Amino acid sequence: SEQNRRTEEEARYDPLTGALNRLGGEKLLGELGEMPLSFIYIDIDHFKHVNDAHGHPMGDEVLKHMVSEVLRHCDALCRLVRWGGEEFVLVCLHYEQARAEALAERIRGALERYPNWPLGLKVTASFGVAERCGDPLEKTLKRADEALYQAKERGRNRVEVD
Ligand code: GH3
Ligand code: MG
Ligand code: MG
Repeated sequence: SEQNRRTEEEARYDPLTGALNRLGGEKLLGELGEMPLSFIYIDIDHFKHVNDAHGHPMGDEVLKHMVSEVLRHCDALCRLVRWGGEEFVLVCLHYEQARAEALAERIRGALERYPNWPLGLKVTASFGVAERCGDPLEKTLKRADEALYQAKERGRNRVEVD
């Protein structure tokens, strides 16, 4: 029925941020076949500190601002997935590596300069980029995650490419 269809559709989205949730992300990946794409793995820097210092509801506010700012830089080929807590995967359909890296760098700078963080906080994020290059999606996602790990290790508020 129409109601069932709508309920199923809603189950794919994260109610806090409006991004696709993990279920929605996995369904999306399952539908992509051999489509070329790049992943941008995004993780907020020292997010635990925001919660510890200002409380979990303020952390939630930061997540909402972050998603709306990320989406402002996206085009119709981008899908944002809240992959877990404060980790997001931006799926960039038909983006080759250089284009995804440029987008990640634009988003990184925009978050760094964003003037409307709650309480005037300074919030940054780290980014890991990987292009699919004919690989299975899980392998590409793992490479993006590894690039993100490098970005964290090299000081955060950075973009690294696999
Ligand atoms: P790093 O720079 O290494 O990423 O440090 P971090 O503090 O961001 O990383 P860590 O993984 O240690 O902490 C993530 C925190 O995100 C811990 C958890 O409390 C918080 N978190 C996860 N999901 C949510 C959420 O939905 N709301 C809020 N407010 N906090 C969340
Ligand atoms: Mg983090
Ligand atoms: Mg994390």
